[in-house]
Amino acid sequence: MMNVCIKSEILVVMVMILLFLVSCSDSGKLSESEAESSASTQTENLLIETTNEAVKPVEVPISSTFYSKKTMDTIRYNVINLMEFKAAKNTAVKNAEYFMNLSYDELWEMVFGPELDRSWMVHSNGYCPKCKEPVIMYDWIIDPVNRPWKLECPKCHDLFPKNDFGIYYKSGLDHEGRFSYDRADSSLLFNAETGDKNDKFGVDDGNGYVEGQMTFRFVQTYLVYGQWMKTILAGINSLSTAYIYTQDSEYAVRTLILLDRLADFWPEFDFAEQGWLYDAPAYCTGYISYIINSAFECYDLALAYDKTKEVLYTQPVICEFLSSKAKITEIDNQKETPDDVKRNIDERILKDLIQHPEKLDSNPPYTDLALFAARAVLDWEGERESLEKDIESIIEKNTQYDGLNGESGLHGYATMSKGAIANICNLFTLADSDFINKMFDRCPKLYDAYRFHIDLHCVGRYYPIIGDVGYFGENYPSYPASAGKEEILMLYKLYELTG
Ligand SMILES: [Zn+2]
Repeated sequence: MMNVCIKSEILVVMVMILLFLVSCSDSGKLSESEAESSASTQTENLLIETTNEAVKPVEVPISSTFYSKKTMDTIRYNVINLMEFKAAKNTAVKNAEYFMNLSYDELWEMVFGPELDRSWMVHSNGYCPKCKEPVIMYDWIIDPVNRPWKLECPKCHDLFPKNDFGIYYKSGLDHEGRFSYDRADSSLLFNAETGDKNDKFGVDDGNGYVEGQMTFRFVQTYLVYGQWMKTILAGINSLSTAYIYTQDSEYAVRTLILLDRLADFWPEFDFAEQGWLYDAPAYCTGYISYIINSAFECYDLALAYDKTKEVLYTQPVICEFLSSKAKITEIDNQKETPDDVKRNIDERILKDLIQHPEKLDSNPPYTDLALFAARAVLDWEGERESLEKDIESIIEKNTQYDGLNGESGLHGYATMSKGAIANICNLFTLADSDFINKMFDRCPKLYDAYRFHIDLHCVGRYYPIIGDVGYFGENYPSYPASAGKEEILMLYKLYELTG
């Protein structure tokens, strides 16, 4: 019998999801014509934020897989009419603000190449060279907006490296934007805080600051967390999200500039060759990050591109800027047309990651999620049938043990498969509103995946703890949903389908 507490929780979330679906589902009350009409009545408001492209429509030869005109119109309507959407839009705009205030040159120059090594940590069992207190694993503070190219000790708040690595890095770039130690000005490698050219304390040229037996991989770690995750990837994610909420093409233009520049280098990134992990050369591959994170990052890149790619054909400024850069870098693809830029991103990011699944071999089935997303973004109509079969097979595989995939850690790792399945189902519902129904018909165990943790909850408080999760007697009053709200849609749809 369904636990009473969880049952009431589910009733509450069902009410929430009903409100959401009524407002924005394909099967909801807002028809396409109503959405268009509602959006058009708000033209004055929207024009404040959008360009004048509506005045002179441009024919776009491609379409987004997951963000159709109907979905975009519904989002416009919801942003105007629903408080939650207004708040989400404001958050998205705020998150993208930093990247909107940069020039196109500054955005383009953010992207680095594979020439410098990267590290997953400064030192797994290290300390601060200044205060000598332990600072291990992921404890160094990295804030690229306020302290570019610096890592802050969480104990004494001193900053490392002591040299100005940003200037040194720029001195080593050639016309392609590739760094070389031969080119870089080694006279810049001194402690900039003292200004003494012979002071080498805390100085890191990209290979780490060495003190006795210890190598502090400051720059290599900054490249992963500061320059990649919190700058390039954060820019791509926040700008593309802000575009969806505002539909102001400037956000999309900037997303595409970053994606295109990333595509120039993307196939060359290989964490096995360029990465350090636990103070030694990495024992696993990946792209800029190591394999586990790469899957999530590849998914983000595919979705950011899908959100914005139509703008390639409406905003000539993208090709004007990128072709001017291509002349300087002398890259083969001169980016003169939207098709050129599309080809660069399609082939060098999406097709490359599809051809190299070993670089994103993460917790199952998150690798599949990223691969499915990339395949659908490239060619939804052409791949639709095979994607449905492959997704069906992944759902079968990951629900075979009472709805779970056999991972231990009952309210931890064991919930990841149903979280990823929820991600897959939510995403593909945007392309096909009947998708969950279709998958439930083919894989009835989909129901078990979301029912399992309802039935196993004991007196509304406990789960039997097995594996790498929690502690004996832990109070766990909620339904574990690693995919958050996306699991609410699963619960609601399965309620609809099963009663
Ligand atoms: Zn310190």
